[in-house]
Amino acid sequence: MRTCPDLAAAIGHTPLVRLRRASELTGCEILGKAEFLNPGGSIKDRTALGLLLDAERSGALRQGATIVEGTAGNTGIGLALLGASRGYRTIITMPATQSREKIDALRVTGAEVRLVPAVPYANPDHYAHQARRLVEAMNAQAPGSAWFANQFDNTANRDFHEATTGPEIWEQTGGRVDGFVCATGTGGTLAGVGRALKRFNPGVAIALADPAGSALASYINTGELKAEGGSITEGIGSSRVTANFQDAPVDHAWSIPDSESVPWVHDLLAGEGLGVGGSSGVNIAGAVRLARELGPGHTVVTVLADAATRYQGKLLDPAFLRGKGLPVPAWLDRAFPESA
Ligand code: PMP
Repeated sequence: MRTCPDLAAAIGHTPLVRLRRASELTGCEILGKAEFLNPGGSIKDRTALGLLLDAERSGALRQGATIVEGTAGNTGIGLALLGASRGYRTIITMPATQSREKIDALRVTGAEVRLVPAVPYANPDHYAHQARRLVEAMNAQAPGSAWFANQFDNTANRDFHEATTGPEIWEQTGGRVDGFVCATGTGGTLAGVGRALKRFNPGVAIALADPAGSALASYINTGELKAEGGSITEGIGSSRVTANFQDAPVDHAWSIPDSESVPWVHDLLAGEGLGVGGSSGVNIAGAVRLARELGPGHTVVTVLADAATRYQGKLLDPAFLRGKGLPVPAWLDRAFPESA
């Protein structure tokens, strides 16, 4: 028998799936780590578990305390499910612009969800600052009653990817991996996997696929944090260098427009039966760019971070896509005739 004693043990060890079209297009092997298969539906289950285990170990999170986090949604879902499994309450602050599906998924975990306006990080009302202030107020009342997970600047996030996601990729490919690419929100995945793979083989190319509207591709390429345009993708992009992103070993960085990433989401669903979210579209577009940089015959790994169902009302809604000036595949129009 191979059983998991609890939810935490069911996180990770996700399959690495060959992406046929991207592979055929480039003459490379392009592989996607199917993180949408985690129990909470995203790669952020790993982040949540890594942060939580570290805080339990250090004593920062005490039995019966309240977990507090600011999140675009997925980390909150992971924390709330782990909280339910391990006896913690969870309070989540989150920008009201995030998908209805993620907000609803959080509510049904039993977490208290506080929707706040979507404002830049420099604004004191940003969701991360609101989470931090809430923890300070709760701990002033009752010391040790709340713990701020702080996924952006708590490097236990990056360390957990370095200890789990990176080595899994190395083992699954038998060490035959030439490049890794992904978008970043906190930077935990890119920095953690990048550091692990470089430790196994310094020759592995690490690349950042940055959505339009994010300042990180410009930061890597010119040293200047500069953003242009915007994106319908969620959970990725940044206007600042987080502690987790700080030490990411990045060899290449590209800014990827929605017009390049969103068609990958539709193609993967219709052509390969893989339903993934918008950040995965950016990741696959980045994998194609990295494969072209390396040339045919190489193996490039990327991340399928969460599922398309989490964005039904956006990525899979013809009217929403048209409103954003994005192409709508004919099959999607046929599937939703009511969304003219
Ligand atoms: N994709 C999705 C869907 C996410 O929710 C996130 C995290 N917010 C990421 C990618 C980025 O991962 P990381 O925070 O490790 O950079």
